[in-house]
Amino acid sequence: MSAFADLHLHTQFSDGTFSPEELVSHARSCGLAAIALTDHDTMEGCVRMALACREAAIEFIPGSELTAEQGGEEIHILGYLMDAENPKLLTELAKFQTIRQNRIHEIVQKLNAKKVPITAEAVMAIANCRAPGRPHVARALVKAGHCATMDEAFERFLKKHRPAWVPKFKMSAEEAIALIHQAGGVAILAHPGLYRSDDVIPPAIEAGLDGIECFHSKHPPGMTEHYLQMATENGVLVTGGSDCHGNTKGRPLIGTVRIDYEFVERLKARADERKPLPVRPVEP
Ligand code: AMP
Ligand code: FE
Ligand code: FE
Ligand code: ZN
Repeated sequence: MSAFADLHLHTQFSDGTFSPEELVSHARSCGLAAIALTDHDTMEGCVRMALACREAAIEFIPGSELTAEQGGEEIHILGYLMDAENPKLLTELAKFQTIRQNRIHEIVQKLNAKKVPITAEAVMAIANCRAPGRPHVARALVKAGHCATMDEAFERFLKKHRPAWVPKFKMSAEEAIALIHQAGGVAILAHPGLYRSDDVIPPAIEAGLDGIECFHSKHPPGMTEHYLQMATENGVLVTGGSDCHGNTKGRPLIGTVRIDYEFVERLKARADERKPLPVRPVEP
């Protein structure tokens, strides 16, 4: 029998609506054999998710979706199987989180300048996590009655070129990849179909990118084929996932994009290659 995995999921520790336990319960209903947690710029949810996965007999792949920049564009690099205790990784994640928290204040100031009375405290109360983002601002705008839906909040205020847009990237793709590697992890370009062009890919591969997320809920079949071909041509790994953010629009996406377990095995093999070699006992 084939086994399947969903390697792109968010919880309340970033902009998802599910707790780690709720997410695992959905994974079990979908019959997934393995799942990864890829919250934005944090690995905080991984401990609880690992525990819940163990109880549900689902394999857990720890991860995070790092915010990076390539050619002036924000791109996301998924880091899988990193050592969550790696000191440099922890330092950098803490910096990302501070940037995200400061950015909420900047976004709120811009909204206030547009005569939208909302406070950073209200947004932070909704976010209730260290890695707040625009979806939390959108939820606060809906809750206060300034927008009817989150989509409206993004369209009117939060999207790029809209009045309350604030960029947040700080790290180049090259730095993000190096950070993941030094923590023993595998670096995958998230949802390449969502960027302006494929021009971001060659420099990332040059910087040591391990793979491409070919399967994603926003990639139509033709696009998936295109990236599968690109992965083959460049000899890099293939991954995929739904990018489920919980109960946002209708049915949660978890399990709607599922990849064959074979891809998980290749991902794990790459991480194993990156782990430091065990110290060999001295022969007598
Ligand atoms: P941020 O990381 O703060 O820049 O916010 C980006 C996140 O906003 C993405 O990861 C999506 O989860 C979310 N997002 C983008 N557009 C929308 C939208 N129209 N409605 C709801 N969430 C969105
Ligand atoms: Fe998100
Ligand atoms: Fe993303
Ligand atoms: Zn994501």
